[in-house]
Amino acid sequence: MIEIDRLTYTYPRTDRPALDDVSLRIDAGESILLTGRSGSGKSTLLGAVNGLIPHYYGGRIAGRVVVGGMDTRDHKAHDLAALVGTAFQEPASRFITRQVADELAFGLEAAGLDGAEIARRVRETAERLQLGPLRDRPLDQLSGGEQQRVAVAAALARQPRVLVLDEPTSQLDAESAQGVLDWLRDLCRADGLTTVISEHRLGRLLPEVDRVAALSERGRLEAWGAPAEVLTRLANGGPLIEAARALGVPAGLSEDALRALRERLLAWRMPP
Ligand code: ADP
Ligand code: MG
Repeated sequence: MIEIDRLTYTYPRTDRPALDDVSLRIDAGESILLTGRSGSGKSTLLGAVNGLIPHYYGGRIAGRVVVGGMDTRDHKAHDLAALVGTAFQEPASRFITRQVADELAFGLEAAGLDGAEIARRVRETAERLQLGPLRDRPLDQLSGGEQQRVAVAAALARQPRVLVLDEPTSQLDAESAQGVLDWLRDLCRADGLTTVISEHRLGRLLPEVDRVAALSERGRLEAWGAPAEVLTRLANGGPLIEAARALGVPAGLSEDALRALRERLLAWRMPP
């Protein structure tokens, strides 16, 4: 569903690539956790998947990104938007309208759907995400968790096949973060969506996702595979080594040690 082939990308007016020779293949229906420290290129990689890179940001790009058979360089952001839904990190700063139902309708209007279809999709999506009672509320009066729900609803109203979520819980306290991740998981599974989520809180999502991609500080793909494999790899030599050491886990982790590490990671955040 998503094929990233030797992607190197440099933002305009910068020298160092934000992503350096990244290759990933993500199958339809898979859920992927994208992790790495702040500045490692998580948001940039998500932008490469939804076409903001290079269409919105410009810059220099080498390699290829193909999503649902569309090479992102050859297709306009508008076409990609129907295929890839995005919920940005700070939804409040990205809202285009002022009110819940309008925000859900906006993308559908931009896509040129007729009024009856828009009304139907807004109603269904709002109900599905339990936004029905909030549909006439101003966006700036919602809680952080509710705003996140609206952002995801607006993306899903367009019925994408891929959902990209940029640190969906970073603005939330622990309890609402867990709530958001729970309903997101159920939703993505029910729809068979291909999901790419970037997250600081590793532990919460690790047991939920199919595969993990970890970026190094320099925008290189440091590890890619099943959660347990990636953990082992990182704990043996990557940015998690400090955490592993602090937890007293030796190199060459046993299954038990890995399980223990996973437990401890539930409470651990990657340093900013
Ligand atoms: P993350 O999401 O992992 O925190 P980002 O993808 O936002 O990382 O950033 C990766 C690198 O690209 C960082 O060095 C950051 O400073 C740089 N960067 C991000 N956005 C821009 C931009 N619009 N212009 C120039 N550099 C940028
Ligand atoms: Mg980011």
